[in-house]
This record gives sequence, structure tokens and C-alpha cells, in this order.
Amino acid sequence: MAFLELQELTKSFGKTRAVERISLGVERGEFLTLLGPSGCGKTTVLRLVAGFEQPDAGHILLDQEEITTRPANRRPMGMVFQSYALFPHMTAEQNVAFGLRLRRLPPALIRQRCEELLALVGLAERARSYPHQLSGGQQQRVALARALAVEPKVLLLDEPLSALDAAVRVTLREEIRRIQQQLGMTVIYVTHDQEEALAISGRIAVMARGRLEQLGTPEEIYRRPRTVFVAGFVGASTRLSARLERAVEGRCRLDGILLRVPPQPELSDGSAVLLVVRPELVTLCQLNEASGAAADGGGQRQGQENVLLGTVELRTFLGAVTRFRVRAAGGQLFTVDLPGLQAGTLVPGQRVRLSFPPEACLVLPLEETGS
Ligand code: ATP
Repeated sequence: MAFLELQELTKSFGKTRAVERISLGVERGEFLTLLGPSGCGKTTVLRLVAGFEQPDAGHILLDQEEITTRPANRRPMGMVFQSYALFPHMTAEQNVAFGLRLRRLPPALIRQRCEELLALVGLAERARSYPHQLSGGQQQRVALARALAVEPKVLLLDEPLSALDAAVRVTLREEIRRIQQQLGMTVIYVTHDQEEALAISGRIAVMARGRLEQLGTPEEIYRRPRTVFVAGFVGASTRLSARLERAVEGRCRLDGILLRVPPQPELSDGSAVLLVVRPELVTLCQLNEASGAAADGGGQRQGQENVLLGTVELRTFLGAVTRFRVRAAGGQLFTVDLPGLQAGTLVPGQRVRLSFPPEACLVLPLEETGS
């Protein structure tokens, strides 16, 4: 049994099923992220764990003890919210000390704990500042120190970075991860930002419409999404409806073109599938008009697998990569990322050859996902 166990948790608000039979285990010292679009039930799961809400059905166990109906103030949890929720009339140090004072710890010990915690979150110099004298990122650091002060068994973070600007978000997420690892803290983190989830998590639980879609490491979620929803929500991709012609051999028909994909022994010939290809796994080669004309009329070139002809429609500079939208001859839209200088002089209107290896194709059965 995991350190924190959620078993078949269900919660409705009136007619809204916010959370539907969510089961998952969080290991001691693990950083688990609940990721999903707005309204998918992430915050409700967190509030059930914190004890701010009671489930309609299901159980919550912490360290093998049932805590499902235990009041929030008797659960060993710390929480950090999107809005820092600091006491405005208290200094950073007094905010951090608050929970320790309630516990009537000796003043010298409280002072020492506060000093340690403010140093841990990089705010040793600002102990006597009031919240209005601190930036948003600094206020969130105080909120984190305050939540850690009472030595919670589980730290719950509800979109703690979403009110901050982009650069601070990245710095602070790295800080949160460092502190979590340094303390061996068990964390449940809620976000709708897939990039943040991939960067910060040990494992990610992707949610949609109150349900758990997939649980896995960031690499598993990105490289092997198991549902159409996860493939679309996490990371950019090209998604193509195709038909699996020969499942065991790994042959797919995309309109008139036969593509090679990894073998799919568990699927049957003729199934409708979605092909998912990540943008960094597609290569683009500029065609001059002569070689374009020499190709086989716009489809697959003879003797080569998974090669299509197309036209660049859009070029977007994203910094480390340049993203291209390419319309293949059959009408399909591809998203392609080329790093650094490889983007060269490709511009909209240019004819290109698209290619991707069979192993770049992820094949998801369409019927099973109900899409
Ligand atoms: P967001 O990222 O927007 O906060 P979320 O994934 O955290 O979304 P929840 O806040 O858990 O989603 O909400 C899930 C569903 O339950 C939504 O449809 C929401 O409107 C509804 N809901 C949540 N709390 C309540 C409440 N107290 N009363 C009524 N409906 C609620």
C-alpha cells in the first residue's frame, strides 16, 4: 500500500460530477502532479485530501490509517494556494511562525525554525518584510515556508505559480523541486500547465472530466500517452486519423498512403486509429521545384517509407526551436519543430519533403477512447 492512498474517490456538487472514482497511490517522498484542463476536478481531489471537502464515496488512507472523515485541522497536511494568502499585518517571519505559535513551541525554537525555513526558501534577508514589501514570487516563498513549518506529512500545492510571471514561475518551480527533494517531502501539486507538470513532477496523474486518464512519469506521459485526450493535452503533436491495415506488420493507411508504424499485435486489422507524431521527430527537407516535380505526384516517394510531400504554411520562432505548420499533399496538417539553425530559410509557400521513422508513430485505437 502506498503512503497516501486514494481509493475510488467520488464527489459531486449538485448535478456536477467533479470527481469520479479516482484511485491512486502516492509514495512517501514522491512528487505527484494532478494535471488537467480547467474544471476537470484537480482542486476537488486536493481539497478532499486536505479535508476541506468530504467525498460522497471512497476512502483516503495516510500511512495505512483511514482519514476519510477526519477534520482538516487534524490532518498532517500543509497547503499552498495560488493566492499566497499570507497575513498582511505580519512580517515574513511572523507568517512562518504562525503555526508554530499555535502549537506553543518555545520562542527560541520558533525563531530557529523560522530562520532555517526562510533560508531554505532563499529569503533569509527578508524576515522582517511585510507581504506588501515583497514580490509575488517572494510572497509565495513565504507561503511555502509557512506550510513547511508545521512539518506536514504531505504538502498540497494548488496552482502555486499561476499568479506569477513566466520567468519567476520557472525559477520557483525549480526551487520547489529542490526543496522537496532536499526534505524528502511527499507532495501533491495541482496545475493545468503541461510544461510545468513535465518539468517538476516525479509522476503525473492526467485528469479529464473528473476521471484519471493516465498515471505515469513525465517521460511515459509524453512518449507513450495511452489515450487520445492525453496525447492532445500534453505536448504538441500531429494527430492523424488512419486505418490499421496490417496490425502485426505495422502498416497503416492514411488516405491513399501506406505508412509504416510499430507493430500493433493487440489491435485488429482494419481498426480506426489515431496516429500521433511529436513535432521534433519529423524532419523537413526543402525541395527545389525540379525535385518536387520529379516526385511521384505529391504522395509517397517510391522506395522510401513515411515520406510525404507538402507545403510550409506557417513558420513560428519559439526560441530553441522553430515550429512549422506544413500541409501535406493529402491535406493533412503536420506540426514540425526544427532546432536552431536547421530551420534555415524555410518560409511559407515552400515545398518540402516530410519524413518520420516508423517508431515516431504512436498508434492509439479510436474506438476504445470513445473519440
Ligand atoms: P480549475 O483549474 O479551473 O480550478 P479544477 O480542475 O481544479 O479546475 P475543480 O475546481 O475541482 O476543477 O472543479 C471540478 C468541477 O466541480 C467543476 O465543474 C466545478 O465547477 C465544480 N465545483 C467545484 N467546486 C464546487 C462547489 N463548491 N460548488 C459547486 N460546484 C463546484
